[in-house]
Amino acid sequence: MIGGLDIFFDKAELAAIESLRRYLDEQLEPELAAHGEDFVPKDKMQSWTQKLAEFGLVNAPQPESAGGLGLSWKLHVQLIEELAYSSGDLAIAALVNGSAASMLVKLAPEHIKTRYLPRLLAGELFASVGISEPDVGSDVAAAKTRAVRDGDHWVISGEKTWITNGEYSDFFICTCRTGENELTHILLDRNEHPYEVRGIPKIALNRQSTSQVFLDDVRVPVENTIGEIGSGLKNTLTLFERARVHVGSWGYGMARRALDESIKYAIDRSQHGKPIAGHQLIAEKLAVMATEIDAARLLSLRAAGMIDAGQRCDKECAMAKWYGTEIAVSATRQAVQIHGGNGVTKEFIVERLAREAMIAPIPDGTTEIQKLLIGRSLTGVSAFR
Ligand SMILES: Cc1cc2nc3c(=O)[nH]c(=O)nc-3n(C[C@H](O)[C@H](O)[C@H](O)COP(=O)(O)OP(=O)(O)OC[C@H]3O[C@@H](n4cnc5c(N)ncnc54)[C@H](O)[C@@H]3O)c2cc1C
Repeated sequence: MIGGLDIFFDKAELAAIESLRRYLDEQLEPELAAHGEDFVPKDKMQSWTQKLAEFGLVNAPQPESAGGLGLSWKLHVQLIEELAYSSGDLAIAALVNGSAASMLVKLAPEHIKTRYLPRLLAGELFASVGISEPDVGSDVAAAKTRAVRDGDHWVISGEKTWITNGEYSDFFICTCRTGENELTHILLDRNEHPYEVRGIPKIALNRQSTSQVFLDDVRVPVENTIGEIGSGLKNTLTLFERARVHVGSWGYGMARRALDESIKYAIDRSQHGKPIAGHQLIAEKLAVMATEIDAARLLSLRAAGMIDAGQRCDKECAMAKWYGTEIAVSATRQAVQIHGGNGVTKEFIVERLAREAMIAPIPDGTTEIQKLLIGRSLTGVSAFR
């Protein structure tokens, strides 16, 4: 157990964290190791997400009235850290299912909630949330995918990219342009409103799905609109706030694993007549990694605590996301260095962690965008139009 966690969590919460940790160490990790880094088919991924739901992923922070457990965002952020420690892939799949759940709880009409939420929270269904497009990344307001009204239907055309869970998705919450200055979220059911999905191979995290999604005049009933027509941009920005804290914990969860692997290695490996842990430059690396990971966790727990308290925390969430994901890159890079030549081989997991961590500063707003948001919050002067 991480030192000092009892300052943030009560006994029941600590027990929940410990029992997830036990499942991840004893069951999930051996299964993941046996599977390797290849793409995980949907039924296998589903068996894991269903099991993880028993430990509160992604249902813990959702209200009991919606089928959630009514626990805190703080606890959920800690559960994501634990999952990322064992599997960055499963953590990103859970993060996106969690974002979709939050959107449905907050914005969806009752018939959509009843139909999708219980099974999503139980880990049976997969959701995708689509904002990014080939020409639309950091500038989310520029989304081009068009939904045109035809009677009581939307007709949707366009292309989305980088869509997490795309190949698994049972439904897809798509950000669509419904007017010149108007974005709207619309839910497409994979069976009823078919969209084409194509996986994107990446440097790492290929066990899970990141995809292109093609929409070609897909007809969707207007009753599948999520939130008010025209509220898509505002709702996307609110959604990012919660998602970012979790992306931060995803990052430092991977970093914590890199640290633990490095500590073991530095004690076991001897050079110049003593364990490399005894060489001051190696001790310094470990000290920096450990301190940065703890600092990242403190930023995330603060932001999640503010969400629990209903306080505005866009700046704090941006800090948590930026810092947690950037220290993932630096810590995993140092972990490779501490492992020497072994660090770049498949025998040691720091090689995989370094590739995975490199991805973390990109989704849900890049590091550069987080810094611009923090700057705007400090000065009131926006870098954006
Ligand atoms: C693994 C993964 C999963 C993802 N999952 C999803 C998902 O489920 N749904 C979804 O919609 N999207 C998803 N994304 C997309 C992600 O949100 C975008 O990649 C991200 O917002 C950046 O957009 P971009 O890649 O187009 O880069 P760009 O916006 O083109 O940025 C390129 C570079 O320019 C910088 N830059 C851009 N604007 C500015 C500025 N104003 N000032 C300074 N620098 C700037 C960026 O920081 C970056 O370094 C995912 C991405 C990845 C890698």
